[in-house]
Amino acid sequence: MPKKKKRKEFQALKGMRDLLPPDTAWWDKLIKTGEDLARDFGFQKIETPVIEDAELFIRGTGATTDIVSKQMYFIKTAGGTSLALRPEGTPGVVRAYMENGLASLPQPIKLFYFGPMFRHEQPQAGRWRQFYQFGLEVFGDSGAVLDAQIIQFCFNLFKAVGLKKINIHINSLGCPQCRPAYRRVLLDYYRYRKDRVCPDCKRRLKENPLRLLDCKEEKCQPIKSQAPASVDHLCDECRKHFKEVLEFLDELEIPYFLNSALVRGLDYYTKTIFEIFWEEEGLAPGALGGGGRYDNLVKELGGKPTPAVGVALGLDRIVALMKKEEVKVGSEPNFKVFLVQLGLMGKKKSLKLFEKLHQAGILAAESLSRDSIKAQMKIADKLGVKFALILGQQEALDGTVIIRDMQSGVQETVPQEKVVEELKKRFRK
Ligand SMILES: [Zn+2]
Ligand SMILES: [Zn+2]
Repeated sequence: MPKKKKRKEFQALKGMRDLLPPDTAWWDKLIKTGEDLARDFGFQKIETPVIEDAELFIRGTGATTDIVSKQMYFIKTAGGTSLALRPEGTPGVVRAYMENGLASLPQPIKLFYFGPMFRHEQPQAGRWRQFYQFGLEVFGDSGAVLDAQIIQFCFNLFKAVGLKKINIHINSLGCPQCRPAYRRVLLDYYRYRKDRVCPDCKRRLKENPLRLLDCKEEKCQPIKSQAPASVDHLCDECRKHFKEVLEFLDELEIPYFLNSALVRGLDYYTKTIFEIFWEEEGLAPGALGGGGRYDNLVKELGGKPTPAVGVALGLDRIVALMKKEEVKVGSEPNFKVFLVQLGLMGKKKSLKLFEKLHQAGILAAESLSRDSIKAQMKIADKLGVKFALILGQQEALDGTVIIRDMQSGVQETVPQEKVVEELKKRFRK
């Protein structure tokens, strides 16, 4: 007898996962709070496609960044075009800003987005290949006050979702006027010490010196800690800008930490950069998001010179923290009545009655898949509703419904068209 072929069991791909209840309640709370708050801060929602021309990220995010060189998902179309699943949100929003003529509207343009991003990295605790970001982007204003407003938004959002142990690490990377000089100073410093740094740092020395400050290798730490800081090599304009950002944060009483080793993994940043950390004793600090200014990116991608600043928050880590901190999320809907139905006619009329109650603002629970009255009454009892509405074959034919007071057990038959009115009368008592 031929061996029966085993049916394939489908699974989510490595590093991908389903978001399921009850976790989705935390997701909903976080996203809703973020969107409401963003609107309060004058931001409008934008959605861009998850697939873009790969070149957009190669030039935008940067060809030498880990995100593009190691983690980006490339898609080759049949026609040979190179596309990519977006590894981050900013380049797509910049493209949309240029393509849709947003630059000709009154500036600044303040946008927010939420959606999945994709990075092909080794899955580890809290890191997923499809992950979610919530981001803000402001175009067309170079003022330091906007850098501060974005940080203020983040701070408020974390407070609003019940996460209070938040610290902001902040730094300034300077601009095209002052950064080359700083780069030279940094290179000189590292060149003298290149025999003592890790292989990764030797590579960075050639490709991307700023990233030297990102090294997590133990052996590089003493060298890194003595390295020249970018804030000591800012031009007048960058120094003034950074000073203003810090003054705004002081004014808002937002705690921050000047971290001269903060460089962020992307190429496009200018001036202010920041990361948001959850800081708890005995716990390795983990960034929940970060952002900064990118005054040259629009121009780099083919637009007019347009100052811009933004932030992206990693929702997967934030939700995990909300769970860990047992943040309270919205409870069950507040059901007022329970619909008990019997027989096909009763079921049909129940659906209609449900609709009628819903329109009247009376939340009705039901168990339409159950046929036994006893089982349905049990659920009604468990939910603690005040009234059960019973619709059997007879009531369906008569156009009536039985209102049963769950506490006293008293029942009254009323016409279906009067049921909303009758219930409202009883709820008023
Ligand atoms: Zn500068
Ligand atoms: Zn190193």
